[in-house]
Amino acid sequence: MNGKEYVENVFENVEKRNAGEKEFLDAVKEVLFSLVPVLDKNPQFIKAGLLERITEPERVIYFRVPWVDDEGKVQVNRGFRVQYNSALGPYKGGLRFHPTVNQSIVKFLGFEQIFKNSLTGLPIGGGKGGSDFDPKGKSDNEVMRFCQAFMSELYKYIGPSEDVPAGDIGVGAREIGYMYGYYNKLKSSSEQGVLTGKGLNYGGSLGRTEATGYGLIYFTEEMLKDNGISLKDKTVVISGSGNVAIYAIKKATELGAKVITCSDSNGYIIDENGIDLEVVKEIKEVRRGRIKEYLDKVPGAKYVEGYRGIWNVKCDVAIPCATQGEINESSAQTLVKNGVIAVAEGANMPSTLDAINVFLNGKVLFGPAKAANAGGVACSALEMSQNSMRYSWTFDEVDSKLKDIMTNIYYNSKNAAVEYGYGNNIVAGANIAGFIKVATAMMAHGIV
Ligand code: GLU
Repeated sequence: MNGKEYVENVFENVEKRNAGEKEFLDAVKEVLFSLVPVLDKNPQFIKAGLLERITEPERVIYFRVPWVDDEGKVQVNRGFRVQYNSALGPYKGGLRFHPTVNQSIVKFLGFEQIFKNSLTGLPIGGGKGGSDFDPKGKSDNEVMRFCQAFMSELYKYIGPSEDVPAGDIGVGAREIGYMYGYYNKLKSSSEQGVLTGKGLNYGGSLGRTEATGYGLIYFTEEMLKDNGISLKDKTVVISGSGNVAIYAIKKATELGAKVITCSDSNGYIIDENGIDLEVVKEIKEVRRGRIKEYLDKVPGAKYVEGYRGIWNVKCDVAIPCATQGEINESSAQTLVKNGVIAVAEGANMPSTLDAINVFLNGKVLFGPAKAANAGGVACSALEMSQNSMRYSWTFDEVDSKLKDIMTNIYYNSKNAAVEYGYGNNIVAGANIAGFIKVATAMMAHGIV
């Protein structure tokens, strides 16, 4: 059986077994089909059933999360943790609290995380979890009670050498703090390495808050530089206004680019003078409000209802940092028509498969999520190292490690693309570079 036949067979079976899980199937499809030349070159991977094994999570945990709201009413949410692959180290990946969370979403995120974590070069396996709990509009006490209820089940399955969750959409320092406190109460311990993204005074790492956004811009800068282009003076459209978007805006602006947009699920802001980050931070991090409120502070800016229209805004570089599927085929076509030079993904799978093809065919420099946004989890792994050493590095030490990691991810992905006949296609290159490391470790471990 050649590589192509093998991939087709495996994918057909994955489709049958996971029927209806669209996000998950899209993520698997994108990775598997790019691996054909690797499998042709390494028939031992086919014999060892590597793709059948790598597409099946090692463990999926699905649990009920009952909690009591401020009115005294009982609420029931669903909790998930997908422990996908531990060939390289403890399961590692965030927790997402958002009403759209279901098994397909956590499985797609967990699957992506395997290769992303491998690309960082650090010893971490892949996992992901979350809940359909919606933190929007909840009081602080409700969020705390939910986090405690969630952890009262999850704590059985995690630990510094087993599985190390962190944040994702809807889970930031506040939620990590509540979950961390409750884990250690339940365990009568002080296991700092059990979660990452912690506060600085109880085991968090300097630079973790900034890492995904900063790493994304380091990656984008490297990708542009490698093609003889500078980020300086470029017009940048960034979507989202959460942790990734905020620090991407900050670093891009510091490097001389002009970021003119940000958004939330209701609509987007265009500020031709460059987004005022302090205003965004106040709305999103302090008041937990809506991005529309930007106009109260910057009346000269423009607000447009709906989030898809943001991709009609003309720019040199587009950086989607909101959520999966935010750029569809027609948005991608508009971006290409308007002359976009580069797209780098801050969110996980923000471009649909059709959109990615539009970018690749349109010769746009394209940084896929698993490479471009790996800075967050990379810094989480650095937080784990510091927790193990019971020591902490300075911001500059962490930041310079982050920069090196992002540069290495870019070149490892690019070199893999060239080696396997994909030219400048970093989507395929990142999949291949991430896969080979995991595959080699799985081969070494035998059938487990
Ligand atoms: N949620 C982030 C991601 O998608 C970070 C995960 C982590 O730090 O473990 O990679």
